Amino acid sequence: RDRLFGGFRKTSDRLSENLTGVVGTAKLDDATLDDVEDALIVSDLGPAAARRIRDKLAEKRFGLSITEQELKEAVAEEIAAILRPVAKPLEITAFPRPQVILVIGVNGSGKTTTIAKLAHLFQEDDYGVLLAAGDTFRAAAIGQLKVWADRIGVDVVSGPEGGDPASVVFDAVKQATDTGIDALIVDTAGRLQNKRELMDELAKIRKVLGRLNPEAPHDVVLVLDATNGQNALNQIDVFKEVANVTGLIMTKLDGTARGGVLVAAAEQYGLPIHAIGVGEKIDDLRPFDPDLVAKVIAG
Ligand code: GDP
Repeated sequence: RDRLFGGFRKTSDRLSENLTGVVGTAKLDDATLDDVEDALIVSDLGPAAARRIRDKLAEKRFGLSITEQELKEAVAEEIAAILRPVAKPLEITAFPRPQVILVIGVNGSGKTTTIAKLAHLFQEDDYGVLLAAGDTFRAAAIGQLKVWADRIGVDVVSGPEGGDPASVVFDAVKQATDTGIDALIVDTAGRLQNKRELMDELAKIRKVLGRLNPEAPHDVVLVLDATNGQNALNQIDVFKEVANVTGLIMTKLDGTARGGVLVAAAEQYGLPIHAIGVGEKIDDLRPFDPDLVAKVIAG
C-alpha cells in the first residue's frame, strides 16, 4: 500500500486509477477511507472536497462490505452531489437585449477559442451574436478572434492595437443595440502580471457598460485551463479580486484527466460552472453535466 512507502505519490492524475487497489479488506475501514482521501487530494479535488467525500462515505457505509467498483460508484455519487448545485448553463435572458457577457482569464487559458465556441452555441439556438475584441493589448488576440469570427460568420467590433478597450466595448454595445443582437461576448486582456492595470481596465469597461445599461455586464465568465490543476484555483482567487466573477468555464478537459479541479472549484467557491471545453474544435464546448463528469472523474 502506498502509505507504507513513505508517502509516495502516485504519478497519475486520474482519480479512477488512484482509487484502484485502495479497498484493502472487504469492509470499508479507516485505512481504506484514508487512502480514498489521499487519492482524492492527489487527483486535485482539494482537501475540503476530499474530506467531505470521505465523511459521507463513512457515514453511509462504514464497516459495510464494499468492492472496488462499488467504492468508485459511491465516490462518483458524492462528487456528483458536490457538482450538481453549480451546474448552470449560460442562458440568454437579458431584457432589454443585448446580454453582455464579459469573458476573462489568463492568456493561453483558451479564452478566445471558448468565446468562439460560445458564439457558435448561441448561433445554433438562433440568437444573434456579436463579438468585441476587448483585448487590445495583443494584436494576435484581435487577429485570432477575427479568424474564428470569420469561420462562424459573426461580426467583431475591434479597435487599434493598444487602443482603449472601453471604447471598443462602447462601440460594440451601440452596434449590438442598433442591430438587435441578443448576445454580445466581450474578450478582455489576460495580463495577470499587472493586476492593478487589469483591474483598472476591467473597471473602466464596467463603467462604460453600466452607463449604457445598468444591468451590464450580465455575466462575467472566467475561463480556466484544467491542465493547470491547483493553479487554476489560485486564478479564481485573483480574478475574484479584479472582477465580479459570475461563473466559470473550464477548458482542456480532454486528453488530460485533470477533472478533479472542477470538484475543488465547486466545493471551494460555489460559482456556477457553465460549460466545459473538451477540444480545440468549434463544437468542443459541452454543457456541464455533473453526473457524467463525476462518472468520468471517478471511473
Ligand atoms: P487564449 O490565449 O486564452 O485566448 O487561448 P486560446 O483560445 O488561444 O487557446 C490556447 C490554446 O488552447 C489553443 O491552442 C487552443 O486550441 C487550445 N484550447 C482551447 N480550449 C481547448 C480545449 O478545451 N481543449 C484543448 N485540447 N485545447 C484547447
